[in-house]
Amino acid sequence: MAKLQSRTPDGPLADKWSSYKSSQNLVNPANKRKLDVIVVGTGLAGASAAASLAEMGFKVKSFCYQDSPRRAHSIAAQGGINAAKNYQNDGDSIYRLFFDTIKGGDYRSREANVYRLAEVSNQIIDQCVAQGVPFAREYGGTLDNRSFGGALVSRTFYARGQTGQQLLLGAYQSLSRQIKKGNVEMYPRMEMYNLVVVDGIARGIIGRDVITGKLERFSAHAVVLASGGYGNVFFLSTMAMGANASAAWQCYKKGALFGNPCYVQIHPTCIPVHGDAQSKLTLMSESLRNDGRIWVPKNKEDAVKVQKGEMRGKDIPEEDRDYYLERRYPAFGNLVPRDVA
Ligand SMILES: Cc1cc2nc3c(=O)[nH]c(=O)nc-3n(C[C@H](O)[C@H](O)[C@H](O)COP(=O)(O)OP(=O)(O)OC[C@H]3O[C@@H](n4cnc5c(N)ncnc54)[C@H](O)[C@@H]3O)c2cc1C
Repeated sequence: MAKLQSRTPDGPLADKWSSYKSSQNLVNPANKRKLDVIVVGTGLAGASAAASLAEMGFKVKSFCYQDSPRRAHSIAAQGGINAAKNYQNDGDSIYRLFFDTIKGGDYRSREANVYRLAEVSNQIIDQCVAQGVPFAREYGGTLDNRSFGGALVSRTFYARGQTGQQLLLGAYQSLSRQIKKGNVEMYPRMEMYNLVVVDGIARGIIGRDVITGKLERFSAHAVVLASGGYGNVFFLSTMAMGANASAAWQCYKKGALFGNPCYVQIHPTCIPVHGDAQSKLTLMSESLRNDGRIWVPKNKEDAVKVQKGEMRGKDIPEEDRDYYLERRYPAFGNLVPRDVA
């Protein structure tokens, strides 16, 4: 039976990735340009990886099946991005962001990786600002934060209800800069059709032009897979219908293991299903949960009338509304983690 090898570095939790980073082999700048890296995907993960690798001096080939890297599904993300900047002085820290994230993942996530995520969260915000992402700001000019589910601190950086779109435009601008400089070769409308494995190491891909159907070979010293999630296995999902996990499936067929299926994000604030023709769910911004309050009718009769269209929710008087999250979870209230809400 195959053995799952997470390759988590050794050492104390808080030092694992930083000491790995400071002790791994370096590549001479003159040699970097001789090394090719394929990056499959141009969402927030892929576009940032491709732009950063190119900025570091590697030769990158970037692939997506959409018309433009800008159309990756990341563009749909709305609510915001967390970082432990503690701008609100409400007691936030890297450890608290780490802990809340571990808890939000039902204690199943890899601790070292989550610690690294919390550790670099602050630099990610700085990087996004440098890329021109127009995060919401206070009148004085400092970056604003909103509260988000699962946390008692306000640490979410946002751009109205379109944070993913603005982040992706920022990442795309960096990617475009590297394309212009000749460090990234961009292949839009090119699907990763198969993975090329040589002696157990991914060394290339077979691409299929989604317009002509033509197959093409691409080789590299390393392949980075940033091809998005598999949420569409559910009957209704907030994911774009094109997000089909096909690249991950090709790697699975070549022997890669499928791990951590617990990483499915729940969106509690969706517009209810409203017909047979509906193919996907539409998310209402989760900011509804921090700036608003969630309630249901206290009396079953009122609920039935609302369902039958005989009464409107707004006509139910305040005393007949049950703010059940505030009642049952007084500490978190409407900000309970998503799996509870
Ligand atoms: C409605 C919605 C709101 C969200 N809001 C938030 C939020 O507020 N905050 C937050 O942190 N997260 C949010 N998320 C989650 C977040 O958006 C995603 O986890 C993240 O954007 C995924 O980025 P990605 O780069 O991994 O993948 P994607 O953006 O899905 O990009 C995948 C890329 O891979 C390419 N690709 C896939 N298969 C192939 C193939 N076979 N060949 C070639 N290319 C391929 C695609 O073309 C695309 O470029 C939200 C998600 C949704 C659906």
